[in-house]
Amino acid sequence: DPFYRQLPKVELHAHLNGSVSSETMEQLIARKPQLNIEHSMTAIRSGQRRTLDECFQVFKVIHQLVDSEEDILMVAKAVIQEFAADGVKYLELRSTPREETKTGLSKRRYVETVIEAIHQCKQEGVDIDVRFLVAIDRRNGTKVAMETVKLAEDFMLSSNGVVVGLDLSGDPTVGHGRDLLPALQKARNCGLKLALHLSEIPSQKEESELLLDLPPDRIGHGTFLHPEVGGSDTLVDKVCKQKIPIELCLTSNVTGQTVPSYDQHHFKYWYTRGHPCVLCTDDKGVFCTDLSQEYQLAASTFRLSQEDVWDLSQQAIHCSFAPEPVKQQLEQKWAKLRPVCL
Ligand code: 5GP
Repeated sequence: DPFYRQLPKVELHAHLNGSVSSETMEQLIARKPQLNIEHSMTAIRSGQRRTLDECFQVFKVIHQLVDSEEDILMVAKAVIQEFAADGVKYLELRSTPREETKTGLSKRRYVETVIEAIHQCKQEGVDIDVRFLVAIDRRNGTKVAMETVKLAEDFMLSSNGVVVGLDLSGDPTVGHGRDLLPALQKARNCGLKLALHLSEIPSQKEESELLLDLPPDRIGHGTFLHPEVGGSDTLVDKVCKQKIPIELCLTSNVTGQTVPSYDQHHFKYWYTRGHPCVLCTDDKGVFCTDLSQEYQLAASTFRLSQEDVWDLSQQAIHCSFAPEPVKQQLEQKWAKLRPVCL
């Protein structure tokens, strides 16, 4: 349906290396034949189901393919162009800085390269505003988390507003938020916005209670926050009272089997409460989707009208970490496009 592609959209939850398209993946595989990686190892076709653990194995394969400055520049530019082609007008990309001794890549250079890709796209006139969230992989513990915050803080001050915040992600079965709390507090205090993966699996109740007191500026997934799935009223109250927007990724959650089916997705719980919900792709490459498809999926599953869908995409502007004047510009863009789309 062309409506969803035409719809101006805001993407707030996209992991760089999970967003690499099959076309770009082909190029990377061709560049590194010695790795013997097949395309079926880097993406999960629609309709297939994997455990969350199997999904994390896919990232390990992709990281082998994307391990130099040149690779990062290429994938970041391609991902930005693909989001723009899908009608995304504002994008917050997130990625975990990696160092690779083999190619001489440092974490600082990693971040600089993503920023360089964002600049190049802007210079080339790609119609999208892109910001960057520096990601902490929870498996790496306290010390690395602290170093990542320092890195993010440096770039927040030197990147002309490109680096706006911090993401907490990585395998939810590994590590505990309590060990990362000081780093996250430090990030908050220096003005970095926080987008945290919370309650992605049932066992994270205690951790979520702790992290919700920071509080985060946005929640990733929040699949198991509500009492019906083993969360609690306390958790829901904390989210509602502080009006913390939730980033919801339908295809990712159903494919990774943390949600049994589309109609049982927790989008319904939060949306019917009038809570700020933002539809996102998570990993458009790995899960073979795009943001238009996610909007269409939500609309058909939960019987949303085109007006409802429009409001959902417009509301996302105000859940972003963009400075106020940028939000105003986006509002104007939406106002201009409304009569064309609806
Ligand atoms: P990168 O940070 O390398 O650009 O993107 C891949 C990384 O994002 C993964 O290694 C993982 O740390 C994180 N990631 C991607 N998708 C998910 C997800 O669905 N859940 C969590 N918790 N982390 C994810």
